[in-house]
Amino acid sequence: MFVAGLTGGIGSGKSAVANLLQEQGIVAVDADQVARDVVLPGEPALAQIAQHFGTDILLPDGTLDRTQLRQIVFADPKARLWLEALLHPLIRERIQASLHAATSPYSLLVSPLLLETDQHSLVNHVIVVDVPEETQLQRTVERDQNSPDQVKRIMAAQIDRQSRLARADSIIDNSGNLQSLRTATLQLHQTLLQLAQDLRDS
Ligand code: ADP
Repeated sequence: MFVAGLTGGIGSGKSAVANLLQEQGIVAVDADQVARDVVLPGEPALAQIAQHFGTDILLPDGTLDRTQLRQIVFADPKARLWLEALLHPLIRERIQASLHAATSPYSLLVSPLLLETDQHSLVNHVIVVDVPEETQLQRTVERDQNSPDQVKRIMAAQIDRQSRLARADSIIDNSGNLQSLRTATLQLHQTLLQLAQDLRDS
């Protein structure tokens, strides 16, 4: 199975590209969604987190207090490493299972952390959605109603634009309007179909 990985900074247009490819019948696995799924109530990882950080890390309804956990790992690198060691293998396994179950000509892994984690080893082809930083900031602030400073902090914690682009097999330029994005995405879709076919023929 040919797997394309789709990444890009916050607000670059990953979801927009993924939606267009899903419209073409491509199965997309969202790494952020999987990361939320592995800590749902009843999941062993949630019990381990509650044991490690104390049950105060749970909200009254038994779900994970993500805001509090984010604050803890932001302030404590050891806690962050512990959490990543617990969650990254679980997330990876679940992503792999979903990609494996996909029945479309190729499948798509959408992940903001494709290049920052070992998730890139799950894909045959890295697609980077790219926009200038000002556009990224403006679109994210509009979408999330966050302050520009908050978005800038998130951007600073992500891999920088040049390093990301250096690792791309394909780049989608999303500096134009949504129609241009659609055209570029449908063109890339044809390339990916061909690459997937080549892999099957090899
Ligand atoms: P990501 O998933 O990478 O965080 P999104 O796909 O959510 O980014 O895009 C960020 C925001 O910008 C969304 O509100 C989206 O609708 C908007 N957007 C994406 N591409 C364009 C574009 N080419 N023109 C205008 N707005 C766009």
